[in-house]
Amino acid sequence: MSNNMENILRKEEFDFKDIVALLQAEGEDQKLLFAKAQEVQLKYVGKKVYYRGLVEFSNVCEKNCFYCGIRKDNKKVDRYNLNDEEVLEAARYAHVNKYASLVLQSGERSDVHFINRVDKLLKKIKEITHGELGITISLGEQSDETYAQWFQSGAHRYLLRIETTNEVLYKQIHPNNDIHDFENRLRCLKAIKKIGYQAGTGVMVGLPWQTFEDLARDLLFMKEMDIDMCGMGPYIEHHETPLFGNKDILWPRQTRFSVTLNMIAVLRILMKNINIAAATALQAIDPMGREKALRVGANVIMPNITPSSHRKDYQLYENKPCIDEGADDCGDCLSLRIEMAGREVGLGEWGDSKHFLKRKK
Ligand code: SAH
Ligand code: SF4
Repeated sequence: MSNNMENILRKEEFDFKDIVALLQAEGEDQKLLFAKAQEVQLKYVGKKVYYRGLVEFSNVCEKNCFYCGIRKDNKKVDRYNLNDEEVLEAARYAHVNKYASLVLQSGERSDVHFINRVDKLLKKIKEITHGELGITISLGEQSDETYAQWFQSGAHRYLLRIETTNEVLYKQIHPNNDIHDFENRLRCLKAIKKIGYQAGTGVMVGLPWQTFEDLARDLLFMKEMDIDMCGMGPYIEHHETPLFGNKDILWPRQTRFSVTLNMIAVLRILMKNINIAAATALQAIDPMGREKALRVGANVIMPNITPSSHRKDYQLYENKPCIDEGADDCGDCLSLRIEMAGREVGLGEWGDSKHFLKRKK
């Protein structure tokens, strides 16, 4: 088997079958894959890891994705909305601690009040940080006009996971209606790119019914879309969701974890200079999950700087780490862990996707 793995890894370009084989790597084969990914990482993006302070500013959501703990119909969630001052305080924290970038994430809403509020926050964050803090947003599906408006107001990166590129699977994990439409998600991703954002996408790994072939197609989709950033994490079942009923057909958690690392490693080899995030969900399975991802291709990490009082209410999945910690604990424990993974924190640098910078030239 290893012989075969070595042959694949020596190729300039992988075909579909190669990717399927790489994603299944275990044991010695997996070590070879990781070594190659690490080599590409060090050569093309270096040792640096960039922080994006994550602010989960509201768990109010209009949608009902079958996998997500904060879906609209989960009545057991205490809904919250941070006030402006709390969001700005988190932005100041990120700025003072030289995080260089902030990620604003929330449940999905598309009412005018929400759109204008985000707009106002973006302008205000730019103002109080003298334009120094980079802003990524992850606010779901919106109209082209809204994406353009938020871009104008200071957001320069957008994260919208495609979740899975298998349309049949997409339908199985979402309600069948207009606000959960695969085509619309694609439209959004294209609009985000066209408007000029650094575009990020990603998938969940280990969804019920998902196959290695699906995952290989997901990676090829990212390459074809020529994305700038990616965040992929294991799917983790949540009791209060419809998909929980399918937990018996899931891969064991360790497999979901291991295949997620393979996805990151293969993507790093396929798209050498993009930014890849070490998703927090990795840490819900393995306490050193994110550090392991940093060793095999990931170069971005998103310390949670949401005020602690609300963290417990933003549980997309169960076993979410750090929900009791204050922002400080997270920052400190992280930098240590990053050094342990043989990486350096790129403090005070935006750490834009090199892929994006090259694409713009
Ligand atoms: N509402 C926005 C942003 C918040 S959700 C959106 O949906 O785009 C952010 C991500 O959390 C989703 O893209 C999804 O991939 C992930 N997520 C949701 N539920 C999850 C679960 N049970 N396990 C792992 N990841 C999950
Ligand atoms: Fe809402 Fe996003 Fe969760 Fe879907 S994944 S229910 S859009 S927060």
